[in-house]
Amino acid sequence: MDFHLINLDCPACGSAMAAGPHDILFLCPHCGSGAVLGNTKLDLVDSTALMPVPGRRARLWRPGWSIETDVLVNARRGTGGRVTPGWSGRRRFVIPAFPLALEDLTLLARALSSAAGATGEVPKEPCHGGTLDLVDALVFIRYLVVGSEVERPDDLATVKVEISPVSHRIVALPFEIAEGRLRCAVTGTVVRGE
Ligand SMILES: [Zn+2]
Repeated sequence: MDFHLINLDCPACGSAMAAGPHDILFLCPHCGSGAVLGNTKLDLVDSTALMPVPGRRARLWRPGWSIETDVLVNARRGTGGRVTPGWSGRRRFVIPAFPLALEDLTLLARALSSAAGATGEVPKEPCHGGTLDLVDALVFIRYLVVGSEVERPDDLATVKVEISPVSHRIVALPFEIAEGRLRCAVTGTVVRGE
């Protein structure tokens, strides 16, 4: 076994970045830089924040991925063997990167990905709990796309989905606290937080 001790100081400004034991992505509360855990060090990643919509306030922040990707859906085939049109296009997905039940993760990712949320500077506040790496976020995007194809009103038997990422950022997501749950300050979606 090969162990590396990795310094969790921000690679951009040197400030300490407090983190949970399973965190693998980080946002610096001092300079707003994003970073992911590499093999021997923290690697810088572009970062941004989604702003609360008017009337909502950020009580706490949780990390996610904002990923722009080309999506290709083809070879849609129904249960009767009939082929129906696919589509292709560039889409932006926002995938929460902190621990959530699959149902909540799906609900929140769908809501955030279809919201035209305003972006702004990463808040100078803690934003911990990032445990979903980029590869898994891309797998999840594929799952979302396949899920929406299955929901279309035809009996889909098979479909081919290709996800070709164009760019990615770590994004700070704002939440309110509602009776012990987290309410997204962008979409209003309520999920069970940790
Ligand atoms: Zn920093």
